[in-house]
Amino acid sequence: MVSKSSWSPVFAAEVARMRPEHVTSLAALPVKPALSAVTTQKPVSILMVDDEPKNLLALRALLEGEDRTMVEARSGTEALRHLLHDDFAVILLDVHMPDLDGFETAALIRERQKTRDVPIIFLTAASRSETFVARGYSVGAVDYIIKPVEPDILRSKVNVFVELFKKTEQVKQQAAQLAETTEFLNSVLEGSTEYAITATDLDGTYLSWNSGARRLYGYTAEEVIGQQTFAILHTPEDLASGASKALYRTALRRGKAEAVLERVSKTGRRFFTSVAVAVRRDASGAPVGFVTISQDITARLQAEEERAQLRVEQAGRAEAEAARDRLRQILDVLPEGIIIADAHGQIMLYNATAQEILGQTPVVTGVAEHTIFGAQHFDGNSFAPEELPLSRAVLHGTETRGEQLLVRNAVTNQLVPVLVNSAPLRDASGAITGGVAVFQDITAIKDLETEKDAFLAAASHDLKNPLTGIKARAQILIRRLSRPDPPDIPSTIEGLRNIDHTSTRLTGMINELLDVTRLQMGRPIDLERQPMDLLALAHEVVTDFIPFAERHQIQVRCDSPDLHGVWDRGRLERVLTNLISNAIKFSPHGGAITLTLSRQEHDGTSWATVAVQDEGIGIPEHDLPRIFERFFRASNAIGKIEGTGIGLSGSRHIAEQHGGTLSVESSEGKGSTFTLRLPLNNVNCADLPDIRSHAA
Ligand code: ADP
Repeated sequence: MVSKSSWSPVFAAEVARMRPEHVTSLAALPVKPALSAVTTQKPVSILMVDDEPKNLLALRALLEGEDRTMVEARSGTEALRHLLHDDFAVILLDVHMPDLDGFETAALIRERQKTRDVPIIFLTAASRSETFVARGYSVGAVDYIIKPVEPDILRSKVNVFVELFKKTEQVKQQAAQLAETTEFLNSVLEGSTEYAITATDLDGTYLSWNSGARRLYGYTAEEVIGQQTFAILHTPEDLASGASKALYRTALRRGKAEAVLERVSKTGRRFFTSVAVAVRRDASGAPVGFVTISQDITARLQAEEERAQLRVEQAGRAEAEAARDRLRQILDVLPEGIIIADAHGQIMLYNATAQEILGQTPVVTGVAEHTIFGAQHFDGNSFAPEELPLSRAVLHGTETRGEQLLVRNAVTNQLVPVLVNSAPLRDASGAITGGVAVFQDITAIKDLETEKDAFLAAASHDLKNPLTGIKARAQILIRRLSRPDPPDIPSTIEGLRNIDHTSTRLTGMINELLDVTRLQMGRPIDLERQPMDLLALAHEVVTDFIPFAERHQIQVRCDSPDLHGVWDRGRLERVLTNLISNAIKFSPHGGAITLTLSRQEHDGTSWATVAVQDEGIGIPEHDLPRIFERFFRASNAIGKIEGTGIGLSGSRHIAEQHGGTLSVESSEGKGSTFTLRLPLNNVNCADLPDIRSHAA
């Protein structure tokens, strides 16, 4: 019968055979060398006791061998001394000895506990009587040999005892090793408090119960030994579904089985255990029961669940971050500034454009801090923080569409006009959770508006002037012709010419306006090309200006008598008119104005060029790059010399529409040269007599 809480060597060995992963702490223990050590055999000692040295000599010669040590004693007393220190396989004891004879010596040997079982063979020559032999056996002889001895008989008898002694020694050593092994494994099993390790018979009746089982299930060994496992540890559900018994059946079939089962402790606490069951077998291999190792894995399951939960949360967070990054990237590429605030007006997000417009992305924790943007009305009054569109959205749920205001850029310290749309953000219940403001920098629109206003004022002025002139001249003529005296024909013609010239200028201005409007609407102007002489046109335009340019000396230079091409005459007339009128207008102190016409070869193409040079105010260097922009006027002209800023831009379009260019070189205070370059379209004047005749 197995002791109640310790383990038999067989159980211990079975546990040791179980898979290491089931018993990790056991597996981690080093196996003691004693468990695997080979049994060693010491030489066997034989004690020979005889008072006759020659007898001892004869015995030694007869019995000596490699596996034994022959120990001699000359008397019973000496023999007893040897027996105190050494173990002997057999004692050969002479009966007749002085002092202590063989029988007395044997009696003393038998009295001692340690030597009680040492076999004694009496040797005697003298006594042959049967009573003598009987006495010998009575004091514990195992054999009685009469001298002279038969060598073979004595040798074989002694050998029997030597072998017996060897075997006994071997068994003793093995028993000691087994005891040591058992104790070692018992200590391991008892020390495995993390694991409940139990043994049952085939019916599931507990035979053994370690300290781990005590700790895990709460029962002492005394309480469970002899009890049926299914009566105490298993849940009613597992018993009902058969899961508990199935585990043992599988173990019987396969030798072992594992499962995660819910178990019940003595206090009724339920917890999950990982259970490994191995079949115990007897020496013939027949199953005799089970060894079960179980461990509470509640904490492990919980940790796994927490890890899984953490993984889900991490994935969710990563997903949310990716979505936020995507949204952020989308918001950052939008051309509008976007600010998102929470319900308190704390700003949660500025996109890249907002940062660009505002020049800052300050930490703002509430509506009161919205003053940091320096918002102003166009009349210069500051916004109260709660008046701002975003604040109104957050505080009152107000939606704002297209409100214009000024914000201060923190980097440039300039006020930037912005157009703001704003709306509240609401949750599913409709409660305000924040607000969003979308705004765009309308500086360019505002500038254009200003330029347009200036243009309208200038254009009305420009159109009104010639009209007033026409009307005045017409009234003078009417008055003169209404008189009874005969009309002054030359001055009447002069007056009508003047009206004609001014109305031509007016028509030119209106056409220019139409072209500008056309270009503004993205529609190209349709050129009306015809063969023409550019030199003749230049002369005509200059002639028209002479009466209005008294302080200027206008010259036309050309190294050839004509410059024919196929161009839009009306529009080129407008370009030349523009360039010459600008040259006059921007040389308020007079000076030379020179038109140089030439024919040039460039990149294998023939070009007709007209350079209009003046000695006027020139154009500041920093304004030069923008001088051909619509409505743009140089800083030294604004407010001093009237204009609309559309002439040069329209002229360049006309040049480009012809496949040509219009460029400028200028130096402020010294004068400007505008150069119109038109392709000749490989039209050789000499080859085109009809063009010549037309021009003529
Ligand atoms: P406007 O003459 O009506 O102002 P333009 O488009 O013809 O418009 O010219 C644009 C601007 O270019 C002018 O306002 C002026 O500042 C500058 N500019 C044009 N021609 C000259 C010139 N010959 N000398 C100096 N500045 C000129």
